[in-house]
Amino acid sequence: MIALISDIHANLPALEAVLADIQALGQVDRVLCLGDVVGYGAQPVECLERVAETCKLILMGNHEHALVHGAFGFHAAAKRAADWTREQFQQVNPGARRRALWELLENLPHRHEMDDILLVHGSPRDPVMEYVLESDLWEGSDPGKMDAIFASFPRLCFVGHTHRPGVFTEDRCFIPAAELPEGFVVSDGRYLINIGSVGQPRDRDQRASYLVFSGEAVYWRRVAYDIDAAAARIIATNSLDPRFAERLRRGE
Ligand code: ZN
Repeated sequence: MIALISDIHANLPALEAVLADIQALGQVDRVLCLGDVVGYGAQPVECLERVAETCKLILMGNHEHALVHGAFGFHAAAKRAADWTREQFQQVNPGARRRALWELLENLPHRHEMDDILLVHGSPRDPVMEYVLESDLWEGSDPGKMDAIFASFPRLCFVGHTHRPGVFTEDRCFIPAAELPEGFVVSDGRYLINIGSVGQPRDRDQRASYLVFSGEAVYWRRVAYDIDAAAARIIATNSLDPRFAERLRRGE
């Protein structure tokens, strides 16, 4: 079994709870991370180090891209968070550790293929930046977008980025993970699967989300964690927007 995690967003209590849950399952041989380890939350350095020691793969998310290349297209509070996060990495000591972390950030791959499975942070045609949203299925939203997306991956594509777990099917439906408590069989057909967010869920379920993949089916796991601790750390920075703490409690 493979576990896929994404969008940790510097939330160490959520990350630790998910890693403990993966350990407790006892059947997972690899953990892979689809990006956005940093951004919004208060413990970006700790989260990147923890992910680096536990995950066989870390993909580039738009928040890592913002650290390395600049926060283009971010709203003001997210841009300030990216600047604060970059400072945290610049203050890491000793210098060898600081350089190793920065080198890791600069060299994160944008995509990863395993047989007929593609892993990206955002979308198969624009791996770091593009969002694939439920609203893309609505008529008139962006005609042709879903056709182009479904033409851009082999059989399965796993993504994060929107923080909204669920399955996009070939016949242009989206099934939220909350409607699939028994998991979802993927042995036939082509699917784009969103694994959800560890550190900032946005589907009104405030528990951390991640996914386990058996090869034939996917199962989402939701894990309660110490939201108060994560929120208190955000407030204590005196730099990050307090709304990043509030939204953790609402799961949005
Ligand atoms: Zn994200």
